[in-house]
Amino acid sequence: MNPAIILVSETRSEELLDEFGRYSRDYELPTAGSAHEAKLAAKRVVAEGGQVAMFVTESRLPDAEVLEAFHWWRATVPTARRVIAAHVSSFREDAERLRGGMAKGKYDAYLLMPRGPRDEEFHTAICELLSDWGSTVAEPEVVAVAIVSPVEDALTLSIRDYLDRMGMPNRVYAPDSDEGRAVLEHVEGDVAPEYPLVMDLGKRVATARSVRDVATRIYGRPADVDVDRVVDVAIVGAGPAGLAAAVYASSEGLSTVVLEAEAVGGQAGTSSMIRNYLGFPRGISGMRLAQRARNQAVRFGTEFFTGWPVTSFTPGEPDATGEPRPHVLHTEGGDVRARAVVVSAGVKYRRLDAPGIERLVGLGVHYGSAMTAAREMEGSDVVVVGGGNSAGQAAIHLARFARSVTILVRRESLAETMSSYLVGEIGYNPRITVQGCSEVIEGGAGEDGRLGWVTVRDTTGGTEERRDCRGLFLLIGAAPYCEWLPDAVARDGRGFVLTGRDVPQRLWREGLPPESLETTVPGVFAAGDIRAGSMKRVAAASGEGASVVPLVHAWLDPTS
Ligand SMILES: Cc1cc2nc3c(=O)[nH]c(=O)nc-3n(C[C@H](O)[C@H](O)[C@H](O)COP(=O)(O)OP(=O)(O)OC[C@H]3O[C@@H](n4cnc5c(N)ncnc54)[C@H](O)[C@@H]3O)c2cc1C
Repeated sequence: MNPAIILVSETRSEELLDEFGRYSRDYELPTAGSAHEAKLAAKRVVAEGGQVAMFVTESRLPDAEVLEAFHWWRATVPTARRVIAAHVSSFREDAERLRGGMAKGKYDAYLLMPRGPRDEEFHTAICELLSDWGSTVAEPEVVAVAIVSPVEDALTLSIRDYLDRMGMPNRVYAPDSDEGRAVLEHVEGDVAPEYPLVMDLGKRVATARSVRDVATRIYGRPADVDVDRVVDVAIVGAGPAGLAAAVYASSEGLSTVVLEAEAVGGQAGTSSMIRNYLGFPRGISGMRLAQRARNQAVRFGTEFFTGWPVTSFTPGEPDATGEPRPHVLHTEGGDVRARAVVVSAGVKYRRLDAPGIERLVGLGVHYGSAMTAAREMEGSDVVVVGGGNSAGQAAIHLARFARSVTILVRRESLAETMSSYLVGEIGYNPRITVQGCSEVIEGGAGEDGRLGWVTVRDTTGGTEERRDCRGLFLLIGAAPYCEWLPDAVARDGRGFVLTGRDVPQRLWREGLPPESLETTVPGVFAAGDIRAGSMKRVAAASGEGASVVPLVHAWLDPTS
């Protein structure tokens, strides 16, 4: 059964139906004349085992204010995207009244109902929202990678998380399902298969013992770069800073290799919806942004190796003539030699030091927003720890699936640490509760071996409460990824890489500070969150990634 787009209008449902005719192959298109009818239609779809992908409504309804109607529909289907298609006669007048609701996340888009054929602007907005729904809610119909496993254990979930972040549609099948049996037919030899088995687009099947096995099979390993080759620039980390550096460096003719420990996108890639990045008025999921940037860089010739952390780095010393030798980046999959290096390894979440938590990572406990795990939280009670924007976004995304989401913070409220648009959206969401002056002090497994409970302590009175909890999402501040860097790359007291005039004078060369994004090692630059003093935003990181490229050019060719 196809998912439904419910079209709601008292007098113009025929017009809407005509406009949405182009979607009729892939979606059911029930119509409703009122808010109440739309709610009944949604209930019917759900009762029949279907899914509602979207509500599209006029800005005025006969029986309810449209924002109130969204509230009802959200209670019925929290995952559906919500769109207002306002008729031209009321578009301007209603915009003033309704736009505030969009900023608070009460709905996703305010559009002008098409007034003629081929209004592709309107349909671009609809397609983007459907694509976002499809990649975060629905299981994909057409998979690029099939995983066969009798259980969705921590490894299977990590593989799915990696594939989701790389934009590879994937699904898990039981070995005795039709799809599972079809994959098993491709296993070579007579040995009993070990799970999880992974089949890629080329129909190659293999047991995956780690996420890296999957990454290597699909994207290769750094040793694939010819050992004698010296690339112009190697970029460590494919978050927004590294991706921007890759796009600009390769588009300007530099040979460019990116080494990434996990999947492309970095922290931004784990964000369910980035709403403050320039040029995306309806927001963009971090995964899509990362995919687009990666494709852009690949088109210009960048080579990416994902799943390979740089484990150490040997800076190139000048040779006898004073010419710099190449820098060497070491990974477990081979070395990469480069004339210039951009360090854009970002930050990672601090670990929660509470008994019982660490061994349940991947089994209900997740660091960062863990987009893939959200789907598994259907009907559960979950806890998000953290008061920053990343915690807010995670809570809103989780509330689409979970029965209840509690945000735990040590401070009294979120006001000081979270953007007000997110605080507003959280306040409006009936499934999310904020609990101030609280911390998680212990956790443990339920009967199935996954997280079953946590103990929460009230930091003012010291009282402790053990509560059921199937998902714990930890977004509790971040520290730089720099343990692999040699001491020659100077850092501040917290480990962030120093660049330009932030470098203490005693480390300057010939009385001069390094260039603005240059570190204390000539030819090694830093961009994004890992850089001391950076702004810790997507736009700032990508801006720095772009700005570092002219400095790389100047280093490679000082006469230019
Ligand atoms: C859930 C969430 C939501 C967010 N939402 C927003 C938002 O809405 N708006 C906004 O402006 N900002 C947002 N941020 C912040 C923003 O994502 C970061 O500021 C930005 O991603 C920093 O980019 P970066 O490239 O410097 O580092 P990162 O994004 O941290 O990327 C660094 C990359 O380097 C890799 N790496 C680390 N060590 C190594 C190594 N040794 N070898 C190879 N690779 C390595 C990491 O795996 C990672 O992929 C959000 C952050 C999170 C976590």
